[in-house]
Amino acid sequence: MKVMKFGGTSVGSVESILSLKAIVEKEAQQQPVIIVVSALGGITDKLLATSQLAVKGDEAWKDEFQAMVDRHHKMIDTIITDPKKRETLFNVVDSLFEQLRSIYFGVFLVHDLSKKTQDAIVSYGERLSSNIVATLVKGAKWFDSREFIKTMQKNHKNTLDSDLTCRLVKRTFSDLPRISLVPGFISMDRDTNETTNLGRGGSDYTAAIIAAALDADILEIWTDVDGFMTADPRVIKTAYTINELSYIEAMELCNFGAKVIYPPTIYPVCVKNIPIRVKNTFNPDAKGTIIKAKIANDDKPIKGISSISGTTLITVTGLSMVGVIGVNRRIFTALADNGISCFMVSQASSENSTSIGVRDQDEAAAVEVLNGEFAKEIETGAMFPMHAEKGLATIAVVGENMKHTPGIAGKLFGTLGRSGISVIACAQGASETNISFVVDSKYLRKALNAIHDSFFLSEYKVLNLFVCGVGTVGGQLLQQIHDQYEELKRTKRLKLNVVGIATSKKAIFDRDGIDLTCYKQLLDEAPISTDKQLSDEIIGMNIFNSVFVDCTASKDVAQLYQEFLSHNISVIAANKIAASSSYDNYIRLKETALARGVLFRYETNVGAGLPIIGTINDLRNSGDSILKIEAVLSGTLNFIFNELSADVSFSEAVRRAKEMGYSEPDPRIDLSGKDVIRKLVILAREAGYKVEKTDVEKHLFIPDHFFEGSIDDFWKDLPSLDADFEDRRRQLEAEGKRWRFVATFDHGHTSVALKEVDCNHPFYNLEGSNNVVSLTTERYREYPMLIQGYGAGASVTAAGVFANIMSIANI
Ligand code: ADP
Ligand code: ASP
Ligand code: MG
Repeated sequence: MKVMKFGGTSVGSVESILSLKAIVEKEAQQQPVIIVVSALGGITDKLLATSQLAVKGDEAWKDEFQAMVDRHHKMIDTIITDPKKRETLFNVVDSLFEQLRSIYFGVFLVHDLSKKTQDAIVSYGERLSSNIVATLVKGAKWFDSREFIKTMQKNHKNTLDSDLTCRLVKRTFSDLPRISLVPGFISMDRDTNETTNLGRGGSDYTAAIIAAALDADILEIWTDVDGFMTADPRVIKTAYTINELSYIEAMELCNFGAKVIYPPTIYPVCVKNIPIRVKNTFNPDAKGTIIKAKIANDDKPIKGISSISGTTLITVTGLSMVGVIGVNRRIFTALADNGISCFMVSQASSENSTSIGVRDQDEAAAVEVLNGEFAKEIETGAMFPMHAEKGLATIAVVGENMKHTPGIAGKLFGTLGRSGISVIACAQGASETNISFVVDSKYLRKALNAIHDSFFLSEYKVLNLFVCGVGTVGGQLLQQIHDQYEELKRTKRLKLNVVGIATSKKAIFDRDGIDLTCYKQLLDEAPISTDKQLSDEIIGMNIFNSVFVDCTASKDVAQLYQEFLSHNISVIAANKIAASSSYDNYIRLKETALARGVLFRYETNVGAGLPIIGTINDLRNSGDSILKIEAVLSGTLNFIFNELSADVSFSEAVRRAKEMGYSEPDPRIDLSGKDVIRKLVILAREAGYKVEKTDVEKHLFIPDHFFEGSIDDFWKDLPSLDADFEDRRRQLEAEGKRWRFVATFDHGHTSVALKEVDCNHPFYNLEGSNNVVSLTTERYREYPMLIQGYGAGASVTAAGVFANIMSIANI
C-alpha cells in the first residue's frame, strides 16, 4: 500500500484538486492508498491571522471569516456536481464553520486567545479540506486523524507519542479500505483529549507516521514543484530537480529550511527503510525525487543548499570556559529543558567561546535561559553575559559525497570571499555531509546564488550584466547579447542575464533579466535617475556574478568603477576615461579588482575589437618585455586621411567620419590627437611604464584655436583648412607617400605625430578606418608582431566588449 500526501497547493485550486482526484483514483486501481491532505492553500495562515484580529477586538475578523466560508463554498459548488453529495457536504462544512464562528466570537468577546484555542481554530483548515476531498474522490472513506495521532506535553511542547500512535494507526487501518482519506497536521493530546497539531507543515509528518506504522511500500509527497530541488526555486532561478537523495541528505536540507518536506517527516520512514517520493500534482508525469537509504553514485560533491533566515547567533564566552568540562553540556541542557532548539554550534578550539544558532523568535528566551544558567559565573566575572547578534541567516551546503572530495570548504569560502560576503560563523559535522555557516541576512540571496553557481549545481552559469549607455556601442552590444543568448546557453551553458540598463538619464532594473526586445520602451517609461542612484541601485541589488559594462564616454560614469570593484562587481569599460586617467587612479582600480577577485577589463579602449591589450598582457605574463610600439590607433583619422582625394576635401572627410559613426561624438577629440594620446598612454601602461597623458609629445596637424570654440563654430570654420590640405595632399601623392597619424612608444618615451610613409612601410596600405599596431619585444625584435584590422565601428567594438564579458564568464 501507499501513503500519498497532498499539500495545501495541491488542494488550493479547482485545477489542482481535480488533478488530485485523477491521480488518486488511478493509483487506487493498483493498490490500497491512504490519502493525507492539508488545508486549502493559504487557509492555515488565514485562520491564524483572523484569530489575531478577533483577539484584538477588530471587527474585520468577520469579513476574513466570511471570505474563508465563501472560498470553501465556491470550491464545493465547482467540483461536486452530484446534488445529493453536495448537500451532505454543505451540511458538514457549514456545521464546522458554525463551530469556528463561535470560537472566533468568543475570542473577540473576551480578548483572549490561549494556545489551546489557537490550536482548535487552526485545526479547521484540515477538517474542512479533508471532508471536501473525501466527497470528491470516488469511494474514499474519511477518518479523523485525532483518533489515532496522539501527542503529549514535553518541555512545554506538543510532542508525538509514537508508541501509542503506532498502535492506534495499526488498529484503525487493520481493515484497509481501498481509499482512506485523512486530514494531515491535526492530532489530539493523549491526556486531555484537546485538539493539537504537529507544527506548521505537519501534514507531511502525519503521512510519514501512518506510512511507518503500516509499513507502506512508499510515502509520496505531492506538492507544487517537480521534486526536491537543488535549492529553493523561489530564490534560485536555476535550481533544478534532484533525482535521488539519501535520507541523510534530505534530512540535512530540510532541517536547514528546504520547506518542501517538514523535517520530522523523514525519521519515521527512514527507520523503516520506506522510500519517499516527492511529486508534482501539476505535472504528475515528471519523475520527481526519490529519497532512500542507498542511492546511485553521483559525481557531484554537493547535492543541495538550503537556508534559514531569521537566525540569531548567541555567543557564550568567558575565560573560565577554557578546558572546563561541562560548559557545553550545561548550555544544551538548559536550552533543551526550555524547549529551545539550536541548529548550529561552532566552537573555537581554544574553547573560550561557543556560538549557537537559534531562530530569532527564540532569541530572548535563549539569552534569558543562558544568563540564568551561568548567573554565578557572570557575577564573578569568569564569564561574560550572553551576546546575541540578530538579523543573520544560516546556510547549509549538503551532500554525502563531500567526504570523498577534498577542497570543498576551500572552494566554498573562496566563492563567498570573491562575492564580498563575510562568514560570521561556521560549522562542519565530522560526518562531512553538511557545512553550515552564518552570514548577514542581506547577503543571503547572493550567497545562495554564488554557491549554487560555483559548484555547478546550476545547469547554467549566469553572468548578471548592468549595461550603461545604449548608443551605438551599447545598442549593438545589447543586440549581440540578445542574438547570442540561446547559442551561448546551449553551447557554453552560459546565461547572459542583463539585469540593468541605463542611459545618462534613465535606468531600468530587473533581477530576473530584462526583455531585450523592448528595453527601449521600458527605458522611455522609466523615471529620471542620476549616476548616484544608478550606483546605489546596482550595489543595493547585491547580485552575485555581476558585471558593470560601461559603453558611455562619460567621466561621471568612469568615476563609479572604484565603488563597483570594491563591491565585487567586475567592470568592463569601452569608455577610455578611467584607464587613461591619472596613473594612480589606473593602478588603484587594477589593485582593487585584484584584491576583490573580480576583473577590470578595457580591451576595446585601444583598437576596438582588436586583441591588443590582451596580447601585450599575454606577452608580458610569459616573460617577454615590450621595447617599442608603433601604431595607427585612430580609425577615424585613418579613415579621414584615406578618404582625402581630389574630390573629397578635408572638411568633407571629417563630416563623413562623423556620419559613419567612426569618430567620437565630438570629432575634435580625434583631430586633437586626444583620443590617440589616451590610447597610447594605456598601451604604455600595459607595457609596464608609468606614463601620464601630459608626458606624450604632440605633433598635430590642425591649429589649436579649432579646439577652443563651440562645436558649431568648429564645423563652420573647418572648410578654411581645405585648400591647404589639398596642396599638401597632391604633393604627397606625387612623392608616392601617404599620411598616417602614428603613436609611438619607444623605451618609455611616447609621442604622436602625423607622419608620411612610403610604400615600403607596413602602415602604407592601411585601408579605411583600420588600425595597426606593431609590437617590438625581446622575442619579436627582428620582425615585430603586427596586429591589424578594423579599429573603429560599433559592431566590432561591441564584439570586443562581448569578448571581455566572455573572459569573465570563463574564470
Ligand atoms: P505544500 O503545500 O505542498 O506542503 P510547501 O509550500 O510546504 O508545499 O512546500 C513546497 C515549496 O517548497 C515549493 O513550492 C518551493 O517553493 C519550496 N522549496 C524550498 N526549498 C525547496 C527545495 N529545495 N526543493 C523544492 N522546493 C523547495
Ligand atoms: N496546513 C498546515 C500548514 O499550513 C499543515 C500543512 O500544510 O502541512 O502548516
Ligand atoms: Mg508543506
